[in-house]
Amino acid sequence: MRKTLAAALAASLSLAGPALSAEAPSAATVKAQALVRKSLPFEDRQDFDFAGRGFLGSLADPVIRRADGAVAWDLSAYDFLKGEAPATVNPSLWRQAQLLTRHGLFQVSDTIWQVRGFDVSNITFVRSDTGWIVIDPLTTAEVAKAAYGLVTEKLGARPIVAVIYTHSHTDHFGGVKGIVSQAEVDAGKVKIIAPEGFLEQAVSENVIAGNAMSRRAGYQFGYNLTPGPEGQMSSGIGAAISKGTMTLIPPTRTIGATGETLTIDGVRIEFQITPGTEAPAEMNFYFPQWRILCMAENANATMHNVLTPRGALVRDAKAWSDYLSESIRLYGDRTDVMFTSHAWPRFGGGVVRDYLADHRDAYKYLHDQTVRMMNAGYVGDEIANRIQLPPALARQWFNRGYYGTMSFNSRAVYQRYMGWYDANPVHLAVLPPADQAKRYVEAMGGADKVLALAAAAHGKGDYPWAATLLNNVVLTDPDDKAAREALARAYDQMGWQAESSLWRNMYLTGASELRGGVAKTQANAGSFDMVRNLPSPMIFDLLAVRLNPDKAGDATLRIVFAFPERDERYLVQVRHGVLTSEPAAADVAADATLTLPRALLLESLFTGAPLAPKVASGEARVTGNPFALQRLTGWFDRPSPDFPIVTRPE
Ligand SMILES: [Zn+2]
Repeated sequence: MRKTLAAALAASLSLAGPALSAEAPSAATVKAQALVRKSLPFEDRQDFDFAGRGFLGSLADPVIRRADGAVAWDLSAYDFLKGEAPATVNPSLWRQAQLLTRHGLFQVSDTIWQVRGFDVSNITFVRSDTGWIVIDPLTTAEVAKAAYGLVTEKLGARPIVAVIYTHSHTDHFGGVKGIVSQAEVDAGKVKIIAPEGFLEQAVSENVIAGNAMSRRAGYQFGYNLTPGPEGQMSSGIGAAISKGTMTLIPPTRTIGATGETLTIDGVRIEFQITPGTEAPAEMNFYFPQWRILCMAENANATMHNVLTPRGALVRDAKAWSDYLSESIRLYGDRTDVMFTSHAWPRFGGGVVRDYLADHRDAYKYLHDQTVRMMNAGYVGDEIANRIQLPPALARQWFNRGYYGTMSFNSRAVYQRYMGWYDANPVHLAVLPPADQAKRYVEAMGGADKVLALAAAAHGKGDYPWAATLLNNVVLTDPDDKAAREALARAYDQMGWQAESSLWRNMYLTGASELRGGVAKTQANAGSFDMVRNLPSPMIFDLLAVRLNPDKAGDATLRIVFAFPERDERYLVQVRHGVLTSEPAAADVAADATLTLPRALLLESLFTGAPLAPKVASGEARVTGNPFALQRLTGWFDRPSPDFPIVTRPE
């Protein structure tokens, strides 16, 4: 009889909890974890020193709530990370999670403090002549507000005079309205500073492919996993994404060039612009009065993602490495302390220089060696299985793959230059996964034979092969409970062995969905601030990718959308099952004209609120064919936010 994991853990760790159907860590997994313990320099405790330095305390009440009562963040969620790693966690990841989840207010220097462990990212408070300059106000308003509250409690009340967004990802600006209001910004009391291109990148990155990306992000971040020895184990780069309310206040000042300087309330700042590195709009900056460097998200306590598993446009490992060289050149000799928007600061000029240089070398090695193998004819799967950092770089904790991995990132480099195709013509006409799976299972003599082969592989600890075999059975018959459970058990072991928190999250989420189906994702609350700032052409791009040509058939339709408050008019045209849009001339011929505040259209698009009642109430006005809009909206698909991943959509 299988011993359940919950029983094993309850015995070894005195943890009580609901029984899980996961099995216990296998002998192969226990052995793999022991190997990790032997191969890495666990005796090096410098990171624990840096991560704990300047600790001034945390919140008395660990639970931060949203207005609707839901929990936005629970500071006690990672209290279990004490002592040695259990066999269900890769010891290297356990160590990283211990470091990343330390929470509270930390003094970085005489003038700079950070609140860490309140989200996936850090919020930094820089003391200026009369108040605070805040860097990166976390992902959601509730946790940002709680962080500011902690700062005020420990350091006294000071107003916020400026907010700097280091880059265009939501975990670096989404909490802004928890600490300042749009009215304060409009009144000129607070400046908002960001790299050039910030606003467009911030609002656009997740629009066109938003549905697929957010579903996949649920896997990547383990949204539905509970933190614990069998569950979520940080995000590798920070604790986890908070579940409060995402907001946005657009910048009042953007930085366009390296070398640009600003003096904000007595604090001098020199900027380095680094587009196309970790984000399309990103910047590092330097405080010359204090010899302190902020490296945004360009130099992290982990190897970062050159391609994020949730999906995104591929990044450029070479540009990333080149910008790190520039940072060293610009600031290396005049920096004593470096902090970042994730993880903990580094203290000492030599420490910072080595850190930046070794990090730079890792991205360059990744890039150059992938391309070298590519030019020798190797394809993605071969390079991903072969590439490893040289030992001197791999031993640096900050180069370990807690977030991005060498395996995944080498595919990103391959993709950047070569795309998905490996040049083997057999891969030009590949069957859909479920069809292919059926034929493999049949060719191998049926499901029972494949299950037996998989059980043998599992018994030997060869989980990737067991999973490959079992995936074919599950795709052939998604109702095969035995195959689903066997695949889930392989994913359990792979998740527990994974050094990457993201791989762990993805394996364990896959296992959970094989056992219990797709759970409804709990994500952040409303992000209408983001949508509100979308450029209008992007709204029509989003409509275009929802059009189902089977529904539209060969119909044609022309509708003008007029947004009077913005003085904008667009012609939307459907023909041949294609939706195109362009600015509309005043006298353009159309079947109908819909005049409405743009916010109403956005609300309808993003919340599914029907427009007809707005027409009836007079908030929206239609001239021409009154049924034109109804026809158009009848052709749109509403993408499912929880489409299947470990089985295939119908
Ligand atoms: Zn970030």
